[in-house]
Amino acid sequence: MPKTNKIIKLIKKDVRKLRAYEAPEIPCKVKLDAQENPYSLPENVRVKILKALKPVLLNRYPDPGAKELKKIIADRIGAKTENIMLGNGSDELIQAIIMAFGGPSKKVLYPVPTFSMYGIITRSLGQIPIEVQLKNDFDLDKNAMFSTIKKERPAVIFLSYPNNPTGNCFSRGMVIEIIRKSDAAVVIDEAYFDFSKKTFVPMLKDYENLIILRTLSKIGLAALRLGVLIARPEIVREINKVRLPYNVNSLSQRTAKVVLRNDRVIDKQINAIIKERKGLYKRLLKMDGITPFPSEANFILFRTDNDASNKIFQRLIDKGILVRNMNQKGLLNNCLRVTIGTPEENRRFLNALKTVSK
Ligand code: PMP
Repeated sequence: MPKTNKIIKLIKKDVRKLRAYEAPEIPCKVKLDAQENPYSLPENVRVKILKALKPVLLNRYPDPGAKELKKIIADRIGAKTENIMLGNGSDELIQAIIMAFGGPSKKVLYPVPTFSMYGIITRSLGQIPIEVQLKNDFDLDKNAMFSTIKKERPAVIFLSYPNNPTGNCFSRGMVIEIIRKSDAAVVIDEAYFDFSKKTFVPMLKDYENLIILRTLSKIGLAALRLGVLIARPEIVREINKVRLPYNVNSLSQRTAKVVLRNDRVIDKQINAIIKERKGLYKRLLKMDGITPFPSEANFILFRTDNDASNKIFQRLIDKGILVRNMNQKGLLNNCLRVTIGTPEENRRFLNALKTVSK
């Protein structure tokens, strides 16, 4: 093989310095690491999907504007289609926002710890990430946020609401103040809205700098890669200019349409997940050596005593249970994150955790 050193050096320094987003694939029977809906779709809906997919012409490009799907999604959200842009996952929309609002030496601000893609995309586009530490209770640090916004004048601010991986919603009053007082585009990432039921969508009429993100990944359609951006039509039109053509493929469009027309099934699953979250939290609270944090999402972050998180993470894998190891210096020290599974999966996780954390 010829040497690649020379060509690698041509790659932007910002990219060479990056660490790729890691979604480790560790085969485990009980998969509670990726905030997926643990339930599959009932047979009758699967049959409807297959029927809808049969006539799809794979030799033709998809509907570039995904018009029908957009209408169904807009109705579900309570918005108009001109308020909406669809993405290949909300990851793609995060990228589109940073591309549209950013530019050389532009800054993107977000509190940390939070979803890692805000930082990864900012750096990969050669823009400057500004990270503001959350307080110990995982809420926004008002003074730090406002003084940093004033000093750094970011082009975009991202707030994950509820926040991944901590699970809490930031104080609403503070979020509104940030939207009101900053000149930046403020993106409220409501990826976990279906589990928190808290939204800023009605505020789009009040604030021109507000952009909201949603996703279908957490409610049972992770395989489709479908994210939703909601904003004023003027903003949607601008961000839409950096969207790649045909970014939502025909199979995803068709499948999502069928599932969302049968959304009672999904809503039932969401309610079951919320119920399980409450039960799992209570049981974790009672466990020695474990401190769970309250969550409004479909996962729970918990801290382990005695510097045991790495050991517990590995021992859970040995027992066929995969959670996410969030352990790092700072606020996430000794923390693991578990996605809410089915009652049976949660029982198995709790039993295993009890044994391995002794
Ligand atoms: N935002 C947040 C806060 C997330 O946690 C995730 C997924 N982990 C995403 C966006 C991306 O979701 P997707 O690209 O699957 O829509």
